[in-house]
Amino acid sequence: MSDEENSRQKLLDRLPGMPALLNHPEIRFLRETHPTLFVNDIVRRELDRIRRYLLEASEGDLENFKLEENDIALRALDIARRALETSLKPAINAAGVILHTALGRAPLAPAAREAVHQALKGYCTLAINRDTGRRGDRHLHLDGLLSHLTGAQSGMMVNNNAAATMLILHALGAGKEVIVSRGQLIEIGGAFRIPEVLERSGCKLVEVGTTNRTHLRDYENAITDNTAIILRVHTSNYTIIGFTGEVSLKDLAELGKRRGIPVVDDLGSGALVDLSKFGLPKEPMVQESVRDGVDVVCFSGDKMLGGPQCGFIIGRHELVERIKRNPLTRALRCDKLSYAAAEATLKLYLEPEKLYDTHPVVHMITESVSAVKKRTQGLKRSLRSKIGDKADLMVVPSETEMGSGSLPGKSIPTYALIVKPHTLSPEELGKKLRLGDPPIFTRIAENALIVDLRTVFSGEEKIIAQRIAEEL
Ligand SMILES: *Cc1c(COP(=O)(O)O)cnc(C)c1O
Repeated sequence: MSDEENSRQKLLDRLPGMPALLNHPEIRFLRETHPTLFVNDIVRRELDRIRRYLLEASEGDLENFKLEENDIALRALDIARRALETSLKPAINAAGVILHTALGRAPLAPAAREAVHQALKGYCTLAINRDTGRRGDRHLHLDGLLSHLTGAQSGMMVNNNAAATMLILHALGAGKEVIVSRGQLIEIGGAFRIPEVLERSGCKLVEVGTTNRTHLRDYENAITDNTAIILRVHTSNYTIIGFTGEVSLKDLAELGKRRGIPVVDDLGSGALVDLSKFGLPKEPMVQESVRDGVDVVCFSGDKMLGGPQCGFIIGRHELVERIKRNPLTRALRCDKLSYAAAEATLKLYLEPEKLYDTHPVVHMITESVSAVKKRTQGLKRSLRSKIGDKADLMVVPSETEMGSGSLPGKSIPTYALIVKPHTLSPEELGKKLRLGDPPIFTRIAENALIVDLRTVFSGEEKIIAQRIAEEL
């Protein structure tokens, strides 16, 4: 036996056994207060992991390996505690990104939360025809509301807008050509790239125009007997400026009609209310695409719309029916929770004048700068009284981002609290806030911790002040 194997074997022999670890006082306490078999299993997995590591580690790694029974127990304890916690926790978003994808995008409206709660009480009328008592069509739930709000003939919902795009392309264009302007071949996060989405949907991409300019004749010249769709993609996360030109949706729709080819519009976020009314840059509106004569439009449920994760498909009745019949629809369909939340969210748009009070995303977008400033000054005062001179605090003008590829290159003016701690680094403070309960997310810039209250719900400021004070 070589020396190396010797020390490997020695380490393996010295590994504590399960009984010793399970008897560690703190682990024993955890086993007594939580599902015992679950805790045992986590400890066993940690022990297995270390054993595998010792078997595979290089000589150098082995030399540096410190085998302390107590350390192993504490590590297992830490892993077990984390596993026993709720993983999906409510969080406070002070990071200044309204549609923060990693924090669940749009926070749901109270009405949507209540609808989910009601639907969850027991059974619900998810896909049943109450007249006949037979199996019905879940896609009919939102048909009327979507049609009313957008002006389209029909509407349905799937898992998200990425699913909606793939489904439309597959249902209407598989095996055929889809024409897209080179200026719209976008990539959004998570490897969603239009050329690849098209390919995976079974379509052949026909690129027309150039990056900065595409003309109607480019589309016209590209039409063949095999063209199935003219696709317009909203360039949600970038802008092309300078010498540019795009064909209007109206012109595309006319061309489609003239040549008998459906025009499909992937709006990305899409808005049901006109943001320019609130002094914000305009996000394309779903109603306008319909009015311009587009045949099928898809948009996200959890971007500007402020609902659950889902994607809406609206458009001409006959095309929506074709989409429903596609086998992919079954794989991309939504569950009852999403329907409950989506229906309640869409209903808020029936009374657009009340959205400021009923719809958290609209509220965040439109809260006045002076109101945010006042709240931020309040936070600063309350924090100062708690922390003495343990940090520099300043209220400064800043910017909130829309996030999720909405309003690219534009932001919403806000005020932010800048915290420069004296006792630890801003990064360390940020990490402590993330790891605490509830997790609080802020951002770091110019060697300071930045707290943006535009994305913070009223009442949460107190928690932020308390938690920062505790960590300093
Ligand atoms: C965001 C976006 C999508 C994907 O929507 P999800 O709801 O995230 O699936 C598709 N297309 C465009 C143009 C987008 O902006």
